[in-house]
Amino acid sequence: MVLRVIFRAVIMGPPGSGKGTVSERIMKSFGMKHLSSGDVLRTNMKAKTEVGLLVKSYIDQGQLVPDDVITRLILHDLKGLEQCSSLLDGFPRTVTQAECLDKVYKIDTVLNLNVPFETIKERLTSRWIHPASGRVYNINFNPPKIPGLDDVTGEPLIQRNDDKPETVARRLKSYEMQTRPVLEYYRASARSARLGGQP
Ligand code: AMP
Repeated sequence: MVLRVIFRAVIMGPPGSGKGTVSERIMKSFGMKHLSSGDVLRTNMKAKTEVGLLVKSYIDQGQLVPDDVITRLILHDLKGLEQCSSLLDGFPRTVTQAECLDKVYKIDTVLNLNVPFETIKERLTSRWIHPASGRVYNINFNPPKIPGLDDVTGEPLIQRNDDKPETVARRLKSYEMQTRPVLEYYRASARSARLGGQP
């Protein structure tokens, strides 16, 4: 008989802390499915779906999209992952989202990437992408061969609207106000579980 262990993790950290990169490594090493809320939203924006059009202005301005919109999308996608080990990246980002998730999907562990805000500002504002392929460059440690141009196609690189300095500042503020409390929420749940359900 083969026993399959299903393990469910959430990876947290400020925008630009490297959640995507670390998730990819975990996914490869442990064979977990990766669900990134940012990727789900960007796919919708690219396809110009109703949700994509609705969320674009929030994302471009560095604000969180409404809880009900993102929760519906992610809980829908999670239905397909019930029988797999999974890593949630970028969701939940508010306590309301964490509470909704808890009702339907029990999380085994939470990973937190603790990166100083100054490092993040530097990282995000130096990130440039080739929109057609998704290739990512960093002007400090992975620059394109010719400044401003994609190495493969020679096409111009752009900055994601939400990587511009003023938007990065807004995203970090929203992380501090809305997402940091989620860490405390999970710490309190873990304490309560250790105490047999008492707060
Ligand atoms: P990310 O790539 O994870 O940094 O997400 C890009 C943007 O998508 C964020 O700045 C938010 O505007 C939006 N977003 C992603 N996940 C969530 C979430 N769980 N709740 C609200 N907004 C989100």
